[in-house]
Amino acid sequence: MAVDQPGAPPFHAAMRDESFDAIVVGGGLVGAAIAWGLQRQGLAAVLLDEGDVAFRASRGNFGLVWVQSKGLGAPWYQRWTRASAGAWPGLAAELAERTGAEIGLAQPGGVHLCLGEAEFEERASRMARMQAEAGNAGFDYRMIGAAELREMLPGLGPAVTGASWTPYDGHANPLRLLHALHRAFVAAGGAYVPEAKVTEGEAAPHDFAVLAGGRRFVAPRIVLAAGLGNAALAPLFGLSAPVRPQRGQVLVTERAAELLPMPVTTIRQTQEGSLMMGDSMEEVGFDLRQKPEVMREIARRAVLSFPWIGRLNLVRAWSALRVMAPDGLPIYDQSARYPGAFTANCHSGVTLAGAHAHLLAPMIAAGALDPALDPFTAGRFDVRAAS
Ligand SMILES: Cc1cc2nc3c(=O)[nH]c(=O)nc-3n(C[C@H](O)[C@H](O)[C@H](O)COP(=O)(O)OP(=O)(O)OC[C@H]3O[C@@H](n4cnc5c(N)ncnc54)[C@H](O)[C@@H]3O)c2cc1C
Repeated sequence: MAVDQPGAPPFHAAMRDESFDAIVVGGGLVGAAIAWGLQRQGLAAVLLDEGDVAFRASRGNFGLVWVQSKGLGAPWYQRWTRASAGAWPGLAAELAERTGAEIGLAQPGGVHLCLGEAEFEERASRMARMQAEAGNAGFDYRMIGAAELREMLPGLGPAVTGASWTPYDGHANPLRLLHALHRAFVAAGGAYVPEAKVTEGEAAPHDFAVLAGGRRFVAPRIVLAAGLGNAALAPLFGLSAPVRPQRGQVLVTERAAELLPMPVTTIRQTQEGSLMMGDSMEEVGFDLRQKPEVMREIARRAVLSFPWIGRLNLVRAWSALRVMAPDGLPIYDQSARYPGAFTANCHSGVTLAGAHAHLLAPMIAAGALDPALDPFTAGRFDVRAAS
């Protein structure tokens, strides 16, 4: 079966098979974390990656390791995100040890700033519901009033009425994370194949073959982690990945003398001192253009939050496409028709890198997803459509 691609070469029976324990399709943060996780489980994995023409959220994101706003109405997502934040220090230490990479992980807690009383009330209600839904798992948060917040975050603007705070939040350098995952994977014997878009696939239970970059790869396991590319790939393996693009824009300032002691949902300071601001949530399809009106709004809220940001020059701005499921939650699935074929998609691939490398990959290596991940299967969308 072929992915819809005119001119794709035919699936060549005479082509030499390159055999592995696992094929991972997609070398972004999700695929790289899983490939590294499989390799550290002792599997020989190959990581097939399309190349620079692909949409790549992993190279355009904000870098938050963020828990506090995840999972309202879906406490299983809150638990998974918390588990990932908990796994992150181990992942960062391991990657540093194996590759020498300093990913810049800091998890000092984080705040979501509210501009005006209405935003504060709405946030307080949301956080209370999150805590109620968490049940025995607990959910530690505080609503912080303006006076206390000003002591925590010097330079706060008068428009800020308060914030929600949780101890779980943090941030990291997402490009260094991606680089370190790739390096650790290759250093442990993994095979990374760039410019290798999967164009065709053959599936039988625990017996998969794909054509990519003019080569044929075979393995008893395959993990589809191709971001937006999963929508076309999943049906080849009896799976479904109804993901869509959602654009986000990010602004970056010159380095600042001021210090932001902890990340804010839409503002974080890099290790080098720049301020990153963003990000928007725009339903515009596969459109990577930047919009001045959106950039202006991002900057406006940032300057209302911290007026001193208004003195800084912007040095860079970009947009990138998130990988969004219809309900915004991750999709993790194993094919019922072709056991051994898995999908992995999410819109928080930085935050979930710890879980993907240290929790999800061992499940895939063992051949079955934990029942705790049942709510993340794509079957949930069929149920909704039928009801
Ligand atoms: C503006 C913005 C801000 C964000 N901020 C944060 C944040 O603060 N914290 C956070 O946790 N997350 C954030 N995210 C989300 C995060 O970036 C994504 O969840 C993550 O990058 C998704 O990774 P991925 O590997 O699934 O997809 P991608 O990065 O899109 O990678 C997919 C890969 O698959 C490859 N591919 C596609 N099709 C094929 C094929 N047929 N064959 C072979 N390879 C293929 C591509 O080459 C690509 O390398 C943000 C995203 C955006 C856009």
